[in-house]
Amino acid sequence: MRIGVPKEIKNHEYRVGLTPQSVIELRALGHQLWVETQAGAAIGFSDADYEKAGAQIASDAEQVFAEAQLIVKVKEPLASERVRLHPGHTLFTYLHLAPDRPQTDELLASGATCIAYETVTDARGRLPLLAPMSEVAGRMSIQVGASCLEKARGGRGVLLGGVPGVAPGKVVILGGGVVGSHAAAMAIGLGAEVTILDRNMDALRRLDAQYGNRIATRYSTRAALSELVLAADLVIGSVLIPGAAAPKLITAGMVRQMKSGAVLVDVAIDQGGCAETSRPTSHSHPTYVVDEVVHYCVTNMPGGVARTATLALNNATLPFVIALAEKGVRRALEEDVHLRNGLNVAAGALTNAGVAAAHRLPY
Ligand code: NAD
Repeated sequence: MRIGVPKEIKNHEYRVGLTPQSVIELRALGHQLWVETQAGAAIGFSDADYEKAGAQIASDAEQVFAEAQLIVKVKEPLASERVRLHPGHTLFTYLHLAPDRPQTDELLASGATCIAYETVTDARGRLPLLAPMSEVAGRMSIQVGASCLEKARGGRGVLLGGVPGVAPGKVVILGGGVVGSHAAAMAIGLGAEVTILDRNMDALRRLDAQYGNRIATRYSTRAALSELVLAADLVIGSVLIPGAAAPKLITAGMVRQMKSGAVLVDVAIDQGGCAETSRPTSHSHPTYVVDEVVHYCVTNMPGGVARTATLALNNATLPFVIALAEKGVRRALEEDVHLRNGLNVAAGALTNAGVAAAHRLPY
């Protein structure tokens, strides 16, 4: 199959659809690859790396879209990319169509087959192409939180691990799912005092079995949450109610009573955030202060570690890219219900119930 990788053009997006390692795998199976010049340059994957892997370097996006049958990206196509799509294309990328009517309409009009990473499923009902980004954001949340605790960033001047003779910092993690459990792993690694709250007892049992007395688990009641948040140095917001906005577990009143210089990293900000005081921020201006509490609310945290995020994403997407290339799109979709769950748009029609409902369009 002819596979194309355009350079991402969304502001501050440095990830790339396929790494040179993935190109080597696909070339070994006899597929042809076109990678737009400089597509991976910002994260250390040069044109020479791609050429060595066996890809042809396309001079611009136009050439990639002209040559490729299967287009592998990271972010949703922007308007200038959407006009290049036609019925002969299959697009494999994050789409997030539900809140984006213009994109939905234009993908429908394109006639292209559009498979969204975020709705591909696995045998346990999870979302395997979203999980790597939650792993990245969870691990990163402790790294950015530790940095924000430093005085120069507005924090209270606490070293999470403490030192001999000085108590460690207190980390409170709201939600022990993918983000929360990876945040916990990092916080434990730094030697912090870690408490995780969740409403799912299975999640708490799993964390307890994994980390024993290196963490404390608490059932997430209002009272427990308030007690722990008020005593915390660093709070990680990592709750998710699938398909819904994040619950506002931290009220503005709680924030007023938190320690001066405490830090809130609200990873759930992409679902609206779990504090009443949270509002989206970007990598260029990641933090702001409310009532002396430093808020970090970056909506696309993995973008900050784009190289790691690209490698993690490729680990998850490559098997599906190989299936699409080896079997052809039609057979790959027919034979794998989980990949088929990723299909959002086909031949001018919506094929995902959630997206159709969001736009009140036929499905
Ligand atoms: P997940 O489903 O694996 O985990 C969410 C956990 O929250 C579950 O264990 C659930 O039981 C728990 N929960 C729900 N309601 C709760 C409550 N009231 N109190 C305590 N726990 C509660 O989800 P995830 O993959 O860990 O993602 C968490 C959030 O992080 C999502 O909103 C996701 O979109 C977001 N996220 C953001 C970024 C970013 O860049 N900002 C990146 C990746 C993920």
